[in-house]
Amino acid sequence: MKTDFSLIINGQAVAGERGTFAVLNPATEEAVAQCPFASPDQVDQAVKAAGAAFQSWQYSSRETRVAALNAIADRFEAHAAELAEIITLEQGKPLALAQFEVGGAIAWTRHAATLDIPVEVIEDSEVRRAELHRKPLGVVGSITPWNWPLLIAVWHLMPAIRTGNTVVVKPSSMTPFNTLRMVELMNECLPAGVVNVVTGEGGIGSSMVKHEGIRKIVFTGSTPTGQTIMRNAADNLKRLTLELGGNDAGIVLPDADLDALAPKIFQTAFFNMGQTCAALKRLYVHESQYDALVEKLADIARAQKVGPGMDEGVTFGPVQNRDQFELVSALVEDARSKGARIVTGGERVGDKGYFYAPTIVADITDGTRLVDEEQFGPVLPVIRYSDVDDALRRANDNPNGLGGSVWSSDIDKARAVASRLECGTAWINNHAEVLPHCPFGGSKMSGLGVEFGQDGLLEYTQSQLLNISKG
Ligand code: NAD
Repeated sequence: MKTDFSLIINGQAVAGERGTFAVLNPATEEAVAQCPFASPDQVDQAVKAAGAAFQSWQYSSRETRVAALNAIADRFEAHAAELAEIITLEQGKPLALAQFEVGGAIAWTRHAATLDIPVEVIEDSEVRRAELHRKPLGVVGSITPWNWPLLIAVWHLMPAIRTGNTVVVKPSSMTPFNTLRMVELMNECLPAGVVNVVTGEGGIGSSMVKHEGIRKIVFTGSTPTGQTIMRNAADNLKRLTLELGGNDAGIVLPDADLDALAPKIFQTAFFNMGQTCAALKRLYVHESQYDALVEKLADIARAQKVGPGMDEGVTFGPVQNRDQFELVSALVEDARSKGARIVTGGERVGDKGYFYAPTIVADITDGTRLVDEEQFGPVLPVIRYSDVDDALRRANDNPNGLGGSVWSSDIDKARAVASRLECGTAWINNHAEVLPHCPFGGSKMSGLGVEFGQDGLLEYTQSQLLNISKG
């Protein structure tokens, strides 16, 4: 893996004016490489470069933007192995999952190239013609988290530039290298200043949110940070798309086929070691099947091969960072102390790296931290219920509303329950699946706005009504 990373401002690779900081490999707790640390002045330079590039990029043709996005996807394909290796080394996930992430980044980029926003003719009468047009906003600030770092940056950047905006992106300081490399590759296909990247902490994200030259912030991360961003964005009324935390419930109906569904339930709860915003995070199971499903899930958990993501045959990597590892451990210990049964896992694996065994917790209920709070890690609480309406009430009795699911052999019955879930996406016999053509976003405290599809594209635009008088 290359180790000399730079900020990219106005198409130029530049060193951070505040020096560098180390990024740790979560499998070894050793430095992967040094990351440039940008100064507030460099954030300002990046915003000014993006502002200058916007003056012409906003008028670029559809063909120019589509060609640029497809050229970017080609660059990602040519560097897929390199990008996947960077992701595994800094994020921790098994290499096959990192390759899946890069594949998703390519697919989403190509899909963004296919999207269009037609002009809407609202009235065409003898007295007037009224047309609704969509214009780009200006400079978009993108702030991303550490769980799916490349994919989420692609989700932010591609619709922004497709619609004629320019961008300053700030990745999480836990996983900055994939984004630095991605922006370097993008700059081989775009005019200088269209996409800029700054890295570091110490208020870089909040200085972007407060910057008058940025017209919109697209943010994916925790709910408390999203709330701070919303407060700070008020001064110049920035547009916001906020994809925030979740605590998704899944409800298994009494008729569910456990043999068929248990592997899928495990996969969607432990996707990316459970560090997925819309992973299944609380599982409600009818008492008639409770013990059987708990055992099936525990068997699948025990069969995982936990280890460094670069090692052959590993299916389960480390938690990404020490704070998250400690939160996961604390939630499990709290559950244990309240009498919950740790069916499997519940402990660190090895003495180096942030490895935590995939953990199934049973005989636990609402009112326990592990059920009420987002664990964002490799632990699933399984909760017994006897009445479906009661399970539904408990599933909805949470401030989050990102996703939810119902598992059953009877799709009509499942649909009736799913439609009453308070969340942005309701799955039946699945969970955590997101698609480039289907809008995705949170309700309640899980966010504001949507990404993907044409609805997602519209979030990067400002409408302008053109009113042509014929009188
Ligand atoms: P986080 O909120 O700690 O950090 C996210 C980003 O915000 C980082 O780049 C961070 O440097 C930056 N940041 C921190 N303080 C800031 C401030 N005051 N102003 C501006 N930027 C600031 O989140 P995280 O721990 O990196 O990610 C995990 C969380 O993200 C989980 O809650 C998860 O559910 C959520 N998430 C949501 C989605 C979704 O689509 N809804 C997707 C992935 C992750």
